[in-house]
Amino acid sequence: MHLKKPFLLLLFTAFHFAGFTQETKPNKLLNTFHSISSHEILEFAEELSDEKYKGRLSGSPEYLQAARWCAGKFEDLGILPASNGSYFQYFPNAYSEVYSTGSFSYTAKGNKKINYTFPEDYFPGSNSASGTVSGELVYVGFGITAPELEYDDYENVDVKGKIVIMESGTPYTKNDSILEKWTPYAYHHYKLRNAVKQGAAGLLYVGKLANPNTVHLENFVYVHIDEKVAEQLFTDSGKNYSEVKKSLGEMKPVSFALNPNQVVNISAETKHFPDAESCNVVGMIEGVDPVLKNEVIIIGGHLDGQGYLGEVFPSALDNASGVADILGAAKALAKSEIRSKRSVLFILFGGEECGLYGSTHYVKDPLFPIEKTVMMINLDMVGNGTGFFVSNGKSFPELFDHFETANEKFLHRELAASEQRKNFGRPRSDASLFENAGINTFLLWTRNSVFPVYYHHPLDKTDVLTPEIMEDAAKLLYLGVLGVANDESL
Ligand SMILES: [Zn+2]
Repeated sequence: MHLKKPFLLLLFTAFHFAGFTQETKPNKLLNTFHSISSHEILEFAEELSDEKYKGRLSGSPEYLQAARWCAGKFEDLGILPASNGSYFQYFPNAYSEVYSTGSFSYTAKGNKKINYTFPEDYFPGSNSASGTVSGELVYVGFGITAPELEYDDYENVDVKGKIVIMESGTPYTKNDSILEKWTPYAYHHYKLRNAVKQGAAGLLYVGKLANPNTVHLENFVYVHIDEKVAEQLFTDSGKNYSEVKKSLGEMKPVSFALNPNQVVNISAETKHFPDAESCNVVGMIEGVDPVLKNEVIIIGGHLDGQGYLGEVFPSALDNASGVADILGAAKALAKSEIRSKRSVLFILFGGEECGLYGSTHYVKDPLFPIEKTVMMINLDMVGNGTGFFVSNGKSFPELFDHFETANEKFLHRELAASEQRKNFGRPRSDASLFENAGINTFLLWTRNSVFPVYYHHPLDKTDVLTPEIMEDAAKLLYLGVLGVANDESL
């Protein structure tokens, strides 16, 4: 984004940027501001999306290699290691290596075999057991057994040795205190374990996406299927999939065996690593004020992606983009002639895709006391679109004002914000952990996507990124965070 000359002159003559003192030299600020380059930020995203990192599956050697690359960047910029002299904060992170797309086929009596294909019809399960299962099919709705809620999807069906077809989510969806009772049953880990407990041999999980946030269970082979596959299986059984799906919201289990002449066969080639470790990459800029430097502003975003499922999932928008934006802002904050009074901590999270492991670990073992953490801003999928959205922005106007002012004066992007709302459901972002720890937390993302969003899909490549908004995200972070860091009224 380029500023027009008359506007620049106006800035030099009447500069009252929130959080900066009168002596602040706007040219010093603008020198750094203009050094932030879309070209360089795109290069960061391209590096992290490269095939050599195999989609940055948390815990894998390729993830750790990407983590070392980021730590090297911090070191080059003079950003300090933040964890007792190290850039790495380790935690346990079991993972599975998937060697091929496996196979998934279907036969109904009297019909010939259909070989479903990757990536059109199915994706392999990120934590599937290795091997082959085949069997008849049983539809089990949400796959939930909740005696205290008088609800059991397995009540009237026998799934022993069979392959279950299951939906994600819970029958109750309204975000209130009732939902909280259903939340333990919303976890994929729970649903897979329950299927095994009921005796199922395999699973067709409806909703085609890569998902490392699952669990490896002995001999339990599963795939994620496209809805159109579920439709076909239902139609061949004389059922209407969309009608059954609609009835799921009625809070009554809808489970039944499909026609016994329908048989599917699933195979997977994987290896599980139960004792693996992963890490957050942590770097900091120490504040220059002797007192305020004990307070910290955290800029976070997850480094891990969805890995390799017989094909690389480059995880470019989700979330090489966020990390690239953070590195762009980190460089600006490290080189800035206007120094930050408070300290700034950068956290590139591991294990987000596996179930928010890195952020969970950080809030349990924080590097700065929680009560000294002025704010956290989390970037997830910040790289495709023309506008910004800041969740929770409206709940902390004294902090958000610094970002809004920066945007109004220098960026002129759409910048919308929402109020913080308690989430009674399953936490879906690293930001939730910080929110729950009582830290003032913003979630930044881009909106009005220019390219299709290939969520957890092999087409999430750097060619669906818009580098201009990534440059502006880094600029927004630089000015907004510096504004907060130097605001003595906070
Ligand atoms: Zn993400």
